[in-house]
Amino acid sequence: MLSNSRAGCLKDPEVAELFYKDDPEKLFVDLREIGHGSFGAVYFARDMRSSEVVAIKKMSYSGKQSNEKWQDIIKEVKFLQNLRHPNTIEYKGCYLREHTAWLVMEYCLGSASDLLEVHRKPLQEVEIAVITHGALQGLAYLHSHNMIHRDVKAGNVLLTEPGQVKLADFGSASIVAPANSFVGTPYWMAPEVILAMDEGQYDGKVDVWSLGITCIELAERKPPLFNMNAMSALYHIAQNESPVLQSNHWSDYFRNFVDSCLQKIPQDRPTSDVLLKHVFVKRDRPQTVIMDLIQRTKEAVRELDNLQYRKMKKILFQETRNGPTAEAQDDDEVRPPPRVIK
Ligand code: ADP
Ligand code: MG
Repeated sequence: MLSNSRAGCLKDPEVAELFYKDDPEKLFVDLREIGHGSFGAVYFARDMRSSEVVAIKKMSYSGKQSNEKWQDIIKEVKFLQNLRHPNTIEYKGCYLREHTAWLVMEYCLGSASDLLEVHRKPLQEVEIAVITHGALQGLAYLHSHNMIHRDVKAGNVLLTEPGQVKLADFGSASIVAPANSFVGTPYWMAPEVILAMDEGQYDGKVDVWSLGITCIELAERKPPLFNMNAMSALYHIAQNESPVLQSNHWSDYFRNFVDSCLQKIPQDRPTSDVLLKHVFVKRDRPQTVIMDLIQRTKEAVRELDNLQYRKMKKILFQETRNGPTAEAQDDDEVRPPPRVIK
């Protein structure tokens, strides 16, 4: 292996310039964990210099496969650095400390998947339409630059306090279309990604498929086949007919949108650009849909029992412009125990 690709090696100026030289421990304070991934954890934090609230994804590159981890970090940072769109997460820079990269991004309240977890019921159609519209605009931007996200799902669609929708998690993204590797999360994967294992190539349309699965996830709380193990699900996606929305209370527009996203043959599936003209996302709707949803979610979080509350209180972290509220700050806060029915 080239010494330049070794973990933490900054000899290559192109790599060195990806990172700020400051010590992030001195710049960012009030760190509180808000998410977890295979790489490590994501934190709420405040930038000392501006008091701005940010999110920090800490990615370690020590231990086993440190060189591979380092390459993954460089890939994600390079990808984030090039993104400039209202519906993709804003990147603010990366720092290194103790074999850990600190990826600093704009702060979001939580993911669409967090909302499902708080409410324990599907979202309303108009809410799904706004979230889908935001994600689709982000995708159309990526696709117009020949990039593919490759891991579209409710857990990677984030919402901000003022009600914007942001695509996040570019750890699986590809900067070239067409691509041909087997990347993504099984239940959301397009048939052609699964089949790319032994045939051909795929493009941005794989994200359109995953967006269709995400619509079903938002409407039914889980993606189709979620009760199967991942291997069986992959086989099923490749071999069987496309899933459809189960309940018949959804509008024909919504149904048709999902059906279009889930065309098995990529040539029959519209591009993200064409889908932006679909009535489901274009239909008039109140400006405040997401703000109302966030308000409703915050109220629901306050009502959660202790265990769930601990997991979801992150949604309340940004109650004020300047950081966590007294409520969110108190880590050891004891909430009234759930009522015991005798
Ligand atoms: P992974 O590759 O492990 O899925 P993600 O980048 O998706 O990592 O981050 C994991 C989780 O952390 C997300 O699902 C989300 O809940 C939270 N998260 C990530 N980025 C942000 C952010 N900018 N603001 C708020 N929460 C975030
Ligand atoms: Mg993710």
